[in-house]
Amino acid sequence: MKNRSLLMIPGPIEFDPAVLSALGAPTTGHLAPNFIEAFGQALERTRTLFQCKEGQPFVLAGTGTLGMDTACANLVEAGDTALVVNTGYFGDRIGTILERYGAKVTHVRPAVGAHPVLDDVERTLKDGKFKLMTITHVDTSTGVLADVKSLAALGRKYRALVVVDGVCSVAGEELDMDAWGVDVAFTASQKAVGVPPGLALLVASPAAMSALKARKTPVGSYYADWNNWLPVMQAYEARKSAYFGTPAVNLVFALNVSLGQILQEGLEARFARHVRISRAVKAGIAALGLGQVPLGDAIAAHTMTAPRFPAGVTGADLIPAISKAGVTLAGGLHAEIKNEYFRIGHMGAVTQGDVLATLGAIETGLAACGYKFEKGAGLSAAVKIFAG
Ligand SMILES: *Cc1c(COP(=O)(O)O)cnc(C)c1O
Repeated sequence: MKNRSLLMIPGPIEFDPAVLSALGAPTTGHLAPNFIEAFGQALERTRTLFQCKEGQPFVLAGTGTLGMDTACANLVEAGDTALVVNTGYFGDRIGTILERYGAKVTHVRPAVGAHPVLDDVERTLKDGKFKLMTITHVDTSTGVLADVKSLAALGRKYRALVVVDGVCSVAGEELDMDAWGVDVAFTASQKAVGVPPGLALLVASPAAMSALKARKTPVGSYYADWNNWLPVMQAYEARKSAYFGTPAVNLVFALNVSLGQILQEGLEARFARHVRISRAVKAGIAALGLGQVPLGDAIAAHTMTAPRFPAGVTGADLIPAISKAGVTLAGGLHAEIKNEYFRIGHMGAVTQGDVLATLGAIETGLAACGYKFEKGAGLSAAVKIFAG
């Protein structure tokens, strides 16, 4: 595929050929025995991926934003209180959704690129009596990696349900719902899960399902109401069928293939691969003299990198120049710094070769923009990481 550009944005990503070929198989009915088996298996594998043994998985047709919407719709009643640990654009979005369902929302919002101070979060939790708190595991607008383990421990301490937006993390960053005490986590198919856009994956803990049962008012969204989907998910897992809305048959077949690959690789090995890939990208970017949005390596995501433009180079020039060199990257998303940085996604089936192609294209693009640097420095730094 000579004219194909390597897609290295924070979703959609490059997909494995076996996943894509499952998408192209003839569509079965949603009651076909092979579909029932695939959906049932995909649900079991989703629970394993999220590491939530007693959790209830939901696989719904929709995007990551449906994951956010359905979590908020089911857990929030008018007047409930919610704390948003806000590390960027998607923190703002979940705050808006929570308010739409009637929650009173408090944000803990550190500076752009920073991680919230745990003491600040604890002080807010102590004062607030929050029904739930939300954490964006990787905020795709800043590349900041939240310390979900420590934040969730605080949430538990103050009896708030812990909701994790894992759209840019699940299947790339370590997330252990059981060990960390996370009540709801969700993602979307097109990110590290490695399936074309169109599915939201969510797992709800027993405590989250109890909170649903304890509601006094109906869920404020019909499509997003877990009560409508629960019998469907339970039926397919029991290798029976049930209907509420037609499942995205081909996407579910593809999801089951990808989840099979993910569990075959092993979660630990997969997280370690993402760390290695990320270190190589970040070493390459640093060697070229570019800064990054996250204020420190310890709070930088492993699924993406957010480099700052060097002085004298603009996104309007650099991103097309990189594209001309064969790699598609994303511009800025966070309103405050939109024109100051760009974004590289490196999750899912990403390889060392993809990283080298990407850094090579970035070097080519920077050179085309007249930026002065030692040619090959970025590639060389990455090769050194891969060579151990
Ligand atoms: C991509 C993303 C979303 C939104 O997902 P869509 O599929 O675009 O709706 C939400 N949260 C985070 C952290 C994301 O990276």
